[in-house]
Amino acid sequence: MKNIGVLALQGAFREHMNIIQSLGHKGVEIRKIEDLNSIDGLILPGGESTAMGKLLVDFDLKEILIQKIGEGLPVWGTCAGMILLAKEIAHDKTTHLSLMDIVVRRNGYGRQLGSFKVDGIFKGIENKIPMVFIRAPYIENAGKGVDILAEVDERIVAARENNLLVTSFHPELTDNLETHRYFINMMDK
Ligand code: GLN
Repeated sequence: MKNIGVLALQGAFREHMNIIQSLGHKGVEIRKIEDLNSIDGLILPGGESTAMGKLLVDFDLKEILIQKIGEGLPVWGTCAGMILLAKEIAHDKTTHLSLMDIVVRRNGYGRQLGSFKVDGIFKGIENKIPMVFIRAPYIENAGKGVDILAEVDERIVAARENNLLVTSFHPELTDNLETHRYFINMMDK
């Protein structure tokens, strides 16, 4: 059984907690530095990245997260969480944790396509998975060390760089558990 942290300052953290439990692992809500002791991995949920980025500073979590993820803690950013991990945000000088060699474009699908769902291929998962996008970012550019795991309409929507996993979409809002299983497997490597 793994202890899996879910950043619980803002956004869709409860949905991740429920899935972690249903897979037989322990979810740990992360709000302060001590909560990070003895976790095997960490999920940064969807929500609003500007708000979440500010809260990371206010709750004194930013520096310690940069350190622990830099040391190899497996981390998965969904949607806003992907924006928190990116080294660059297109047309924006802001960065948050700035750990993954990707350029992300916020709200990349514009207003009309604010929310949509498709079934897509995800490298390393056997069957297509449902992908729910909500005012989602996509990856505009990925560095050499980044493995592209999923593309929808020629846009990169999932990628991995060593211990860092990001998805534009929200697996926690579907009943498909495969992306969570994929992330949990990253903790054994
Ligand atoms: N558009 C949001 C942002 O830029 C992310 C949306 C989401 O997490 N569902 O922070």
